[in-house]
Amino acid sequence: MMNFEIINRKNLTEGIVEMDVHAPRVACAARPGQFVIVMACEECERIPLTLVDWSCRGGWIRLVFQEVGVSTYKLGMMDVGERLYHVAGPLGNPTHIDKFGTVAIVAGGVAIAAAYPIARAFKEAGNTVVSFIGARNSRLLIYRDHIAKISDEVHISTDDGSEGFKGFVTQLLEKRLADGFKPDLVWVVGPAPMMRSCSVVTKRFGVKTIASLNPIMVCGMGMCGACRVRIKNEIRFTCVDGPEFDAWDVDWDELLHRLSAYREEESYALKLFLESRGIKVSR
Ligand code: FAD
Ligand code: MG
Repeated sequence: MMNFEIINRKNLTEGIVEMDVHAPRVACAARPGQFVIVMACEECERIPLTLVDWSCRGGWIRLVFQEVGVSTYKLGMMDVGERLYHVAGPLGNPTHIDKFGTVAIVAGGVAIAAAYPIARAFKEAGNTVVSFIGARNSRLLIYRDHIAKISDEVHISTDDGSEGFKGFVTQLLEKRLADGFKPDLVWVVGPAPMMRSCSVVTKRFGVKTIASLNPIMVCGMGMCGACRVRIKNEIRFTCVDGPEFDAWDVDWDELLHRLSAYREEESYALKLFLESRGIKVSR
């Protein structure tokens, strides 16, 4: 088996791929909350992806990603037996796992997979785990069985009401908190606007909240500065100082602004990429 060879590849749902990669040294060092930086090919971009699962004995790591742009499309087009150019990791600080009591896990979209190893670790540490998972529609609710297996309770929301609560997962959390649910800790991962809403809600109810941030990241090891975020008005690098921070301390507006900094270039690059493969797009 070659290092970084793809050993499993599965479409979980439209546009979301699960991939197992042979990477024994990463697998044997990995801890919940960490990520890798992947390069699909030699000229490819470096992109950060969360370690969703791993096996030291099996020598593999599991990634789950949504095809949103050139790099994730390219990765999604690769198949079993092909080899990624490089995987660097494990990177970032592991989640602080402890026995807090009741931990609410809040996750949206593709990030439900990223929440899984953390929820599992909180459960193994003796916490009561109450999970809130949401997606645009029921088909996009990936990893629900994984989450259900290690949670004491699972609450589901969809934007279109095709399953569970109709609305955002943060509204569902808010509803439960208003009904008297009192977790000792909230741990949230998902799109930045969702994490910001979560932070607003939990601040109102006084529940400490840890957010796993997802800024644009390039080197992943504290050199380039692309992933800088403002925490309590101080600059931090998400890769080496995070990726988790106290949600109330995050400057969410700046994070959102920086995330959209290259949107025009990204959608132009994606259009060219898809058209070069004969796929017409109207973006
Ligand atoms: P592009 O078209 O280049 O970009 C689409 C959008 O993605 C951009 O507008 C921007 O908001 C964001 N983005 C672009 N480049 C980067 C970059 N280098 N780093 C981060 N965000 C970027 N996604 C998953 O699907 N699964 C995961 O497990 C996962 N884990 C992540 C863990 C961390 C620590 C971070 C920081 C991000 C994670 N992401 C994850 C997001 C993922 O890295 C981006 O979706 C991906 O880089 C987009 O690349 P692209 O070229 O396909 O899209
Ligand atoms: Mg890109």
